[in-house]
Amino acid sequence: MLMQKQRELVAEYGRKISAARLSPGTSGNLSIYDPDSGLMAISPSGIGYFAIRPEDVVVTDLDAHIVDGARKPSSEWALHTGFYRRKPEIRAVVHTHSIYCTTFAVLGQPLQAVHYAIAEAGTDTVPCAPYETFGTEALARAAVETCGEGRAVLLGNHGMVACGESMEGAYSLACNLEFVAELQYRACSVGTPNVLSDEQMAKAVERFKTYGQNQPTK
Ligand code: 13P
Ligand code: ZN
Repeated sequence: MLMQKQRELVAEYGRKISAARLSPGTSGNLSIYDPDSGLMAISPSGIGYFAIRPEDVVVTDLDAHIVDGARKPSSEWALHTGFYRRKPEIRAVVHTHSIYCTTFAVLGQPLQAVHYAIAEAGTDTVPCAPYETFGTEALARAAVETCGEGRAVLLGNHGMVACGESMEGAYSLACNLEFVAELQYRACSVGTPNVLSDEQMAKAVERFKTYGQNQPTK
């Protein structure tokens, strides 16, 4: 099967998205891009995550020509290919309708640096793109343009998109931004959150370079 490993990963991380309650029902979608072949493995449209088998994942090129798979690809294929074209370093895209990110998307408000975990997005705020109909080139354009240099964007009255250098990274970013969004929502419900300054965020970004198993650079 063409792109077998990537198709297995798309199916596996779809189940993770559902199990973590990051996107209800058949909402959201995910993909992995292979720059060597120029092909993308993307979740099929409208199939529940626990029902998706690797062979249901569709392989397309960046012009949405189906190269392998019997299913119809996600209606958001243009959103995914838009990010791969704009950000050559990314290898995976996750789109969810997670509840707290989508709450701010409904308000048209960005996520702010209420917690240093937002640093994973590569920017101090996660902006919100204007509303466009789902599954359109207009939505893809608005999302990619609003995202700018960061790795995540909210979609007005719709949801969120997280990009990563791996599927693990894109999924982790989607989880962490949902955490930041929930904090922002809760803090705004009872008061006015302190937002971290540019300097505080710059120090957190520096710290992340040696976080976990990352080695200090000599
Ligand atoms: P698909 O099931 O076609 O991937 O669409 C879900 C979605 O979230 C559309 O924005
Ligand atoms: Zn959606």
